[in-house]
Amino acid sequence: MDILTALMIWTVEVTTLAALLISRWCYDRENFYLTWGTGLLLHGLGSFLVLARGTIPDFLSIEIANTMVLTGMGLLAGGMMQFDRRRIEPYILIPALMWIAGMFLTPVRETLANRIVLHNLANMMALAMMIHLLVKPKSVLISTRHVLAALFALPFIFNAVVAAVCLRYEPFSLPMQMTASWLFVPASVTFIGCIVMGAKMLTDRTADKLKQLAVTDPLTGALNRRGLIDEFSALRIVDNGEKPLIALLHFDLDSFKEINDRCGHQAGDAVLVGFAEIGMVALRDRGMFGRIGGEEFASILRVSDMIEAAIIAEAIRTTLKRRTISIGEHQVSVTVSTGISLAPAYSADLDMLLNSADKALYFAKENGRDRTAISGEEILIVPAIDHLQEEELRLDLRGNRHMAALTRLVATIPR
Ligand code: GH3
Ligand code: MG
Ligand code: MG
Repeated sequence: MDILTALMIWTVEVTTLAALLISRWCYDRENFYLTWGTGLLLHGLGSFLVLARGTIPDFLSIEIANTMVLTGMGLLAGGMMQFDRRRIEPYILIPALMWIAGMFLTPVRETLANRIVLHNLANMMALAMMIHLLVKPKSVLISTRHVLAALFALPFIFNAVVAAVCLRYEPFSLPMQMTASWLFVPASVTFIGCIVMGAKMLTDRTADKLKQLAVTDPLTGALNRRGLIDEFSALRIVDNGEKPLIALLHFDLDSFKEINDRCGHQAGDAVLVGFAEIGMVALRDRGMFGRIGGEEFASILRVSDMIEAAIIAEAIRTTLKRRTISIGEHQVSVTVSTGISLAPAYSADLDMLLNSADKALYFAKENGRDRTAISGEEILIVPAIDHLQEEELRLDLRGNRHMAALTRLVATIPR
């Protein structure tokens, strides 16, 4: 097979894949499909112009064609950024810009060997971007990404060899003989490998998305009960000597039914979303927050002592209390009651924690709602900054060791 036939096959392959990716984009509007499709289309059309060399002006088959090929390569890296849910960085244009800059230099523009060297260097730049994006630390799809990176390393090395050979031997014309089609072997291996591994990466991503959906509450975006159960096992085995306890915070919005009755179900939904936002922000980087049913939420986290758990629950309670949620003409204020249970991480059992937290929650409701209660040797109401006068009446609790500590620390909760 001569080099022109090989180039023609390459053009058809690349353009076909581009068409597939663009039609896939039409179907589910994931932008990385469009970027990859456009990149491959530009690459294919550029290769076609190279193929037409001699029958079209040199400017088209050299300057424009290679700019298109290298822009296409940059767009492949751009698509990878979108795949990783990042914005496309302008530096993906560097390979094409390297080529354009070279075309302004007469010794590069007028000498085939120098043009080949420049093209290969610019291509290496695009491949290096791709490899960098693939091996960047990511929590998912690591092995697939590393195989893909290795596949891109193959043409990278090949480009380096070609550039070195051209610098050394300075060819005056492209090798057109039958054997020259081997020049396409590395690119073809990468192309076929990328289709296989790329398909695997996309399948893994879809599976990941489905898994995510299975553990997410659709209304609030917080974890659902299943998600919290999954996270609980992981949280138990984390080696954290400073935080030997697992705390379970069980939140139940107060008199929520009234909000539904007074302002409508939609207003109720907005309150649930608002509370979930507060909970997710409060627990970010600390633990897990999820909706376990109706107007009930729960959080699990590692803590050093009961005070730490109480402070977080109180911060969430007071933040919600201060917030007014506007829905249409309604201004809704809502409060939350919380029950907390704790257990050493190594022996924690989710059912037992839920049971104890539920009892504490019931106690908080019985004691007037808008409160946090902790289940321990006995159930205690956390002294609250906004209920201090009432708490002062609880003389019977003064002598309690835990209560004394909670009372001191409650002053640290932001008002
Ligand atoms: P308490 O202070 O004792 O917790 O009273 P409550 O009214 O909050 O509790 P109750 O269990 O009587 O009512 C809970 C209500 O939550 C009843 C149900 O209609 C409502 N609810 C459950 N799920 C949803 C939901 O997804 N959206 C809305 N808007 N309401 C919901
Ligand atoms: Mg309830
Ligand atoms: Mg309730």
